[in-house]
Amino acid sequence: MPAGEKPKILIVDDAAENIRILMENLKEDYAIVPATDGDKAIKMLQAYSLPDLILLDIVMPGADGYEICRRLKSDEITKDIPIIFITAKDREEDEVMGLTLGAVDYITKPFCMPIVKARVNTHVELKKHRDKLKQLSDLDGLTGICNRRRFDENMKLQWEYAQRSNTPLSLIMIDIDHFKAFNDLYGHGKGDECLKKVAHTLFETIKRPTDMIARYGGEEFACLIPVTDLDGATNIAEQMRANVLSLSIPHEASSAAGFVTISLGAACIKPTMYAAPAILLNGADQALYQAKRSNRNCVRTCRFE
Ligand code: GH3
Ligand code: MG
Ligand code: MG
Repeated sequence: MPAGEKPKILIVDDAAENIRILMENLKEDYAIVPATDGDKAIKMLQAYSLPDLILLDIVMPGADGYEICRRLKSDEITKDIPIIFITAKDREEDEVMGLTLGAVDYITKPFCMPIVKARVNTHVELKKHRDKLKQLSDLDGLTGICNRRRFDENMKLQWEYAQRSNTPLSLIMIDIDHFKAFNDLYGHGKGDECLKKVAHTLFETIKRPTDMIARYGGEEFACLIPVTDLDGATNIAEQMRANVLSLSIPHEASSAAGFVTISLGAACIKPTMYAAPAILLNGADQALYQAKRSNRNCVRTCRFE
């Protein structure tokens, strides 16, 4: 959840009175989104940002709570949202069923509000810690941008999305020019500083929330741009090149310029026709190699026909 915002809870219950009582007691600490049946809840999840917790009734008209829980747990996007059943079904086997389906907790009605609050707090706190760990495991320690692991994960998702939606997927591979010589001349500390500045500049250059910049290796970065053709990607690459040059970080040992520069290879593909992301990575790598051979500080492209 974004810092400073209240954690968000989705309450799914067909009894308006239950929703009212829960809202009344939880609204001070949480942003509440109510839904009066399971299908409405699913629609809410698709339309708005995901909640941090779901309070789910079991007996409802239409799809019951068990069914909704099953659906949410089998969907990659919603499977990690904690669910607490809150229900009049107080037999042991009902509780076993709910917990077996993946709910984190099971509360029976009539409920005691302080207990509901305490359990909700506990699970929202745990969710915060999980989110934090996930974020840390996604980020590169030096530059603070996404790491290679997160890039590979996102590449898989975006590749599948592009296949389903028949849209182009673009990739830019970026490599700092003569960086070994930079380290040799100015020292590793200045090298690290330079990496941070370049990473920050590349990050600032991308605009859309679905665009991603990641540290791919030592002084190599990768930028994944969904729903964008080769011309669009080439434009972004050219802006990146110009923005890094205008940082004007001195590099006396570079044959490309008196400043730190980058070489870039851009490639674009319609994944429908191809089997694996490796082909896009290869294309961008080939283009990057061409940029290096053209005396660096430039963009080269690879087009798949
Ligand atoms: P080219 O223009 O052909 O890309 O030459 P290059 O010297 O940039 O490429 P090369 O692959 O020979 O060297 C990459 C250098 O990047 C070597 C390594 O010391 C440096 N490097 C990699 N990761 C880091 C890092 O985390 N910090 C620092 N300071 N340097 C790094
Ligand atoms: Mg290099
Ligand atoms: Mg390199």
